[in-house]
Amino acid sequence: MKKISIVVSCYNEEETITLFYKEINKVINKMKNVNFEIIFVDDGSKDKTLEVCKDLHKKDKKVKYISFSRNFGKEAAMLAGLEYASGDYVTLMDADLQDPPSLLPEMYKILEEGNYDCVGTRRVTRKGEPSIRSFFARCFYKLINKMSKVEMVDGARDYRFMTRQMVDSIINMKEYNRYSKGLFSFVGFKTKWLEYENIERVAGETKWSFWKLFKYALEGIVAFTTAPLAIASIIGIILFLLSLIAIIFIIIKTLVFGDPVGGWPSLACILLCVSGIQLLCMGIIGQYLAKTYLETKRRPIYIIKETD
Ligand code: UDP
Ligand code: MG
Repeated sequence: MKKISIVVSCYNEEETITLFYKEINKVINKMKNVNFEIIFVDDGSKDKTLEVCKDLHKKDKKVKYISFSRNFGKEAAMLAGLEYASGDYVTLMDADLQDPPSLLPEMYKILEEGNYDCVGTRRVTRKGEPSIRSFFARCFYKLINKMSKVEMVDGARDYRFMTRQMVDSIINMKEYNRYSKGLFSFVGFKTKWLEYENIERVAGETKWSFWKLFKYALEGIVAFTTAPLAIASIIGIILFLLSLIAIIFIIIKTLVFGDPVGGWPSLACILLCVSGIQLLCMGIIGQYLAKTYLETKRRPIYIIKETD
């Protein structure tokens, strides 16, 4: 019998976990010829998430849990779950039921047929999300897809159903700065996309502020493309060429019209502009340097406090 591992990352989800467990059980009961394990990864929650997980584990041996020593972020939680999972197939889900469990039988069927290695899901609408957030999200996907060779699918969720082979190749990437959407595309394999309309979370509230998402977007860019570095050098070359033209222009002007003092306002503007660009480029280089620095420290991606 095949086994499916369901990895659920949870941060302050005491309200949603029981709802999730109820819904997922409905689906599990329908899929008679498959074994299941549900792995709740408690990402250092400050509420009763861990207690709820332990209760479920006592009642139902399918339920396992991993609890972090502090909040390490969803990326770390997903990695821990993937490493712990022992199934032939592994799926990543959110606890808030925004990832419909009802898709599981279809996903399983698609992989069992053997033509695909992964089933991904994408939202075709962003209903219920602030429009400014959707706007920036769309801009981000356009930008990163222009810059990076690895394709990032707009609206793709972390809700995926993968074969053991694909999971193993993801686990093998031990980078510290993890950007899963990119890692999933990076490993390749054939992915079939299922589409659905956005569903709002059942209870609790989102853990992603606009600022957190913005930083996550920058992380994605730095992790999957070095194009900003190239852009910095191109800006440098363009400014250098412009300055050559300006030098020639000024020499000729001085020879023809003499050298009356003046033009300091324009000089001040040029100085400001160029030093601004210099700082920007240094900042870009700094971002990559910082990531390299963190990567070389080889700190653990997560620390487990307790597990079943
Ligand atoms: N999550 C997590 N660690 C974090 C933040 C979020 O494990 O630091 C989990 C959270 O519990 C949820 C999933 O990631 O199961 C998605 O989070 P959320 O629903 O807040 O994000 P949204 O759906 O609004 O993008
Ligand atoms: Mg959510």
